[in-house]
Amino acid sequence: MIRERILVIGASGQIGVELTLALRKIYGNNNVVASDLREENELLKGTGPYVSIDVMNKEMLHVQVIRQNITQIYLLAAILSATGEKNPNLAWHLNMQGLLNVLDIAREEKIYKVYWPSSIAVFGPTSPKQNCPQQTIIEPTTVYGISKYAGEFWCNYYHQRYQVDVRSLRYPGLISYKSAPGGGTTDYAVEIYHEALEEKKYTCFLREDTYLPMMYMPDAIRATIELMEAPAVQISTRTSYNVSAMSFSPKEISAAIKNYIPEFTINYEPDYRQSIADSWPQSIDDAVARNDWGWKPEYDLNKMTKDMLENLRQQ
Ligand code: NAD
Repeated sequence: MIRERILVIGASGQIGVELTLALRKIYGNNNVVASDLREENELLKGTGPYVSIDVMNKEMLHVQVIRQNITQIYLLAAILSATGEKNPNLAWHLNMQGLLNVLDIAREEKIYKVYWPSSIAVFGPTSPKQNCPQQTIIEPTTVYGISKYAGEFWCNYYHQRYQVDVRSLRYPGLISYKSAPGGGTTDYAVEIYHEALEEKKYTCFLREDTYLPMMYMPDAIRATIELMEAPAVQISTRTSYNVSAMSFSPKEISAAIKNYIPEFTINYEPDYRQSIADSWPQSIDDAVARNDWGWKPEYDLNKMTKDMLENLRQQ
């Protein structure tokens, strides 16, 4: 059996912190090297090795991959949807070049497996709004979505041409209490819990009837690890898999919170993020992921709300 040495790039971000901790539990603390441009996240400190890496600096990345005897790379460094619209050139540059640097090094060093997340942002206004299928019309209108869609085809290309075992999920909006979200259009669904507990009120940057696909972080981490641990023969999709858990609107999440905090109130002041949200599907069909490697979510809106509020209260 191969002794895994895993490099997580972007480990101080919303997903990176929890994924690094989960991988350390499975593979051993010292076998999972966390890395980021930012300083090490507080929750990671003392739990395992950390190196400072800029994914845009290919030589530095390459040296670290060799020095640390890396066998698997999880690439999480990216600029997300809302931040990307403020700086399209930077978003394109980081999201593309970061991925190409990792894929190239994986090919050269015979890295055993690569993980890179895509997003529901690949879909655009011409994609089906309900139960958006794995394969459909895909015409993204945000720079983030364009970069993710191009990235999916680079992953497929490196798999077909160079046999790099790169795997990917199209995450929906991710909700978590451990680390803060990084500038996405679904960030409201994290902020709302914090504000509900602290202020008992929240001003939402999306309209009350804006339905979006969402997932609780424990499901997202489990989906990622289950995909990466599935036998290669079960992976039919080498672009990126649709995965789904729940779909709700700001009005529905506020009603779920009111079950626990009756005095909570919400008002709506939609901003530039509304048009991004309006371009995405409201729900996702993940039948291919379910069939190929047995994906099944555990959390719905109410189960997540209970868990979020309980954990945030303890913090
Ligand atoms: P995040 O912004 O919270 O974290 C990204 C991390 O990457 C940050 O810690 C940042 O410092 C780091 N980073 C940025 N530039 C870097 C560079 N040049 N070199 C090294 N590190 C760098 O993002 P996240 O929410 O954790 O997202 C991780 C991945 O998942 C991204 O690819 C994102 O597109 C994807 N995704 C996230 C969501 C979501 O809801 N969070 C949904 C869909 C897809």
